Amino acid sequence: MQRPPAYDEILHPGEYLGMMGDGQLGRMFCHAAQAMGYKVIALGHEADGPTGQIAERHISADYESAEALQQMAESVRAITTEFENVPAQSLKQLSYTIRTTPAASAVAVVQDRISEKSFIRAMGVPVAEHADIRRMADLDTVDKTLFPGILKAARLGYDGKGQAIVNSLEEAKEAFKDLGEVECVLEAKLPLAYEVSVVLARNLQDAIVSYPVAVNHHINGILSSTTVYPGLVPDDLAAKAIDYAEMLASGLNYYGVMCVEFFVLDAAKLSPDHPTLVVNEIAPRPHNSGHYTMNATSCSQFEQQVRVMAGMPLGDTALLQPTIMLNILGDSWFIEDENQAKEPDWASVLALAGVSLHLYGKAEARHGRKMGHVNIINADIDKLYETAQKVSDILHLGAELNRK
Ligand code: ADP
Ligand code: MG
Repeated sequence: MQRPPAYDEILHPGEYLGMMGDGQLGRMFCHAAQAMGYKVIALGHEADGPTGQIAERHISADYESAEALQQMAESVRAITTEFENVPAQSLKQLSYTIRTTPAASAVAVVQDRISEKSFIRAMGVPVAEHADIRRMADLDTVDKTLFPGILKAARLGYDGKGQAIVNSLEEAKEAFKDLGEVECVLEAKLPLAYEVSVVLARNLQDAIVSYPVAVNHHINGILSSTTVYPGLVPDDLAAKAIDYAEMLASGLNYYGVMCVEFFVLDAAKLSPDHPTLVVNEIAPRPHNSGHYTMNATSCSQFEQQVRVMAGMPLGDTALLQPTIMLNILGDSWFIEDENQAKEPDWASVLALAGVSLHLYGKAEARHGRKMGHVNIINADIDKLYETAQKVSDILHLGAELNRK
């Protein structure tokens, strides 16, 4: 029977690499892989979607399909994923015959908020106060200090979906019912000063590199902007975030690209012994808050993903220029007419210095749907913000770009 490559075997350009998933993250992975001469086979549901348009081959099937998994295993020697909800069982099955980065065991921990939080806490890293809610009765015993809180479905949430703000036990019960009584965590609503993330890569030789800490701004639960430049966050906080993220990656035996999202809390609104840096969640894949690496570093998060699965050394993560990433949602197509999509004014965006446009090839623009992003780089931080504001105005992004 075929065996996975030994950990020190290098898969050379020209080989096929496999991708579980076929959205925008898969697409940008393909671009990076192909730039280095690799070929990609993607498994998912959208043959003509963001990844399907780009990959050498697309397998249209469920992630559990035995036939599709076998086809994949026979066609590639390494596989990765672009979304955290890939069935861990499928990754496990693939791992018997092909290199699987990250491993099913690591993905399984972080794709469930209950096991994710208990793992993080067991590593000695702070998380929000919370309670595991498996059934309605669990709510009756929760500590009342968790209110006001956020009830989050343990699985399958993204972009703020599967969540409800709950101010009381009664509201929590109502929300639990609305979520279909699926397993949840009830988290205390914390006083956020701002949010940061660390994207890192860990390779098969156990080397780790982290990108600079990014400051993220969400609107309606969806990432709106990511800003990165030296001095934006205090050095000690940045060092601590990177330290925590790297500990978590090692603790998970993680191979591949991973993102850790953090909350930085407002100390004035907390008891003196409360930690001010807590982990929100871990994504076992490249992350929206790491898209800036495509233009602001010499090796993007997607190239790192390719390097890890190919058994290659990691790339450089140093920031070359101050940068702001702005997400483009489908709303930008409906500025003039709610019911009639109209192409945004790309030419005006591209007329600005230091701007790179990335679109995901999605056929239909919809409200709240991630369609692409713009990376802006500029050595001059005032000009960086000025350009970002112009991009936001042209595309009506409503980004809140307040220089701290
Ligand atoms: P998703 O999986 O959809 O990204 P998150 O758990 O990251 O969900 O929540 C989305 C956003 O909601 C966070 O980035 C943050 O702005 C806000 N949020 C989530 N949990 C809390 C909390 N415990 N306290 C305050 N704000 C929160
Ligand atoms: Mg999140």
